[in-house]
Amino acid sequence: MRNKIMPGAMLGVLGGGQLGSMFVTAAQKMGYFVTVLDPSPDSPAGRIADDFICANYTDQSALKKISNQCAAVTTEFENISADVLEALSAHCQVSPDAASVRTVQNRITEKQFLATNGFTIAPYCVIRHAEDLLTQGVDNYLPGILKVSQFGYDGKGQKRVENAADLKLAFEALNHSVCVLEKLIPLNLEVSVVVARSATGQIEIYPVSENQHVNGILDISIVPARITTSLANRAQMVACQIAEKLDYCGVLCVEFFVSATVNGELLVNEIAPRPHNSGHYSLDACITSQFEQQVRTLCRLSLGETTQHTPAIMVNMLGDLWHNGEPNWNHVLQHSSTKLHLYRKTEARPGRKMGHFITLNNSLETALQQAIAIKNSLNLN
Ligand code: ADP
Ligand code: MG
Repeated sequence: MRNKIMPGAMLGVLGGGQLGSMFVTAAQKMGYFVTVLDPSPDSPAGRIADDFICANYTDQSALKKISNQCAAVTTEFENISADVLEALSAHCQVSPDAASVRTVQNRITEKQFLATNGFTIAPYCVIRHAEDLLTQGVDNYLPGILKVSQFGYDGKGQKRVENAADLKLAFEALNHSVCVLEKLIPLNLEVSVVVARSATGQIEIYPVSENQHVNGILDISIVPARITTSLANRAQMVACQIAEKLDYCGVLCVEFFVSATVNGELLVNEIAPRPHNSGHYSLDACITSQFEQQVRTLCRLSLGETTQHTPAIMVNMLGDLWHNGEPNWNHVLQHSSTKLHLYRKTEARPGRKMGHFITLNNSLETALQQAIAIKNSLNLN
């Protein structure tokens, strides 16, 4: 189904977190109405939706309702069952498509897809049973990171392991879930690329984002990444090729490792079939944000231009910042070229993404210094 869907129509989104919420805002700004489906009665996107269905993602009557009342449905995260997306697609336009989500929502099929298509990834093996830990060759992936094959995010569901004893304990701690054991890559840095691809194969690529993580969670994105043009071009090219190989329609992000080897090898870490935290800078620094592209791809419109007009730093704000109560937002708001984004979540828990701010400056280094000063002032409160 490739019908253009025009403003005034009702769109649906599965998931009511901050990504869903920023999709709702982008769609409403363009004149669409949005129905949100989320199991939590009080979600950021659910609260601002034109219609909110509070139900599980597998609730048949809820899915029937959303597909009946929406011209098109998208998702905010990859853990929606691909079968659900497939069933919905019989009734309305759905992107991302079930097949792409099925491939990338499981680390094993994701890695097989990448390896089969010639993309470089970290060496890995699959651990399905405790016996697999005794298999010869597991040592080749140590030191490594043991990751559950499904439902991991923000560093959850993964453990760093140095040796065989660690590995055994980690597999137990992950409840013997099916896992991949990935060799630890000495990192020079991490980068990511967001691309939008339309149902007709039009592609718009965002600049490369340089990402710093703390405890497996994105902390800061620096855009454009401070890498050579040739490395940036390669990362963008690989992200495009991945979107093409998946015949993907929607917004997709590819996370990369740049290894600390002499040649700075570029490895694909993972694929997110949705807008990505490292693409939030596009809200304030690009002609078209990644969420507007999500609306455009879903509605089968032509894509917006991705050009970045100002260098930007995105700083994530986690629930830990709330340890002494509400932070003093004046530390952010007093800066004339810093944009505050709060997700209006009701409870601040450690490690929970509560908001971010974006600092803009024609000099990337100045923006970085300002953003770090703001981050430190917030920490001191
Ligand atoms: P998530 O789904 O939680 O984002 P990732 O696989 O992206 O999981 O891992 C989170 C972070 O952990 C990465 O961004 C990186 O900083 C670190 N990491 C993961 N795998 C490796 C690896 N094989 N080598 C080095 N660092 C890694
Ligand atoms: Mg990741």
